Amino acid sequence: MAIRELKVCLLGDTGVGKSSIVCRFVQDHFDHNISPTIGASFLTKTVPSGNELHKFLIWDTAGQERFHSLAPMYYRGSAAAVIVYDITKLDSFQTLKRWVKELKEHGPEDIVVAIAGNKNDLGDIREVPMKEAKEFAESIAAIFIETSARNAVNVEELFQKISKQIPPLENHEDE
Ligand code: GDP
Repeated sequence: MAIRELKVCLLGDTGVGKSSIVCRFVQDHFDHNISPTIGASFLTKTVPSGNELHKFLIWDTAGQERFHSLAPMYYRGSAAAVIVYDITKLDSFQTLKRWVKELKEHGPEDIVVAIAGNKNDLGDIREVPMKEAKEFAESIAAIFIETSARNAVNVEELFQKISKQIPPLENHEDE
């Protein structure tokens, strides 16, 4: 079975749970005191997708997101980008639009974009209505999902949705 390496970059404000999502997906683990330096490089996980194996190379911003303008190198060659916000922080949803703009300017044209509303275990203190976020995602043709890295909700599904949007390799070979 062919293995395809797919670079995925994570975007979103500090504290929304980017490192926790990667940690949950790759190691099936939640660490309350996760180190912000976990993203100094990338972590990988391979999942089956149709007749292929998708090896995700997941890049975390290693705290660089506070500059709100990442080096274009960060996006280069990315098959997908996951923009994460925190459902309990309206600010993190508002800045999401800035991340979308940044991605449009610096990211590859055919990049698959996914929006993840994380911390959905904290529904009691929700500030971002799911409907609003979903509608925004639809308006930019992005995948939308709410996740909880803490409770392992929809983290696998997020990456499955991304896998499904990546055209199979055969399509390229036929061209
Ligand atoms: P990053 O700066 O975006 O990489 O965010 P982190 O992964 O470092 O997480 C920031 C904080 O949010 C940490 O205290 C995590 O324990 C917490 N956190 C991350 N994901 C979740 C979640 O799904 N639910 C809850 N309740 N807390 C979370």
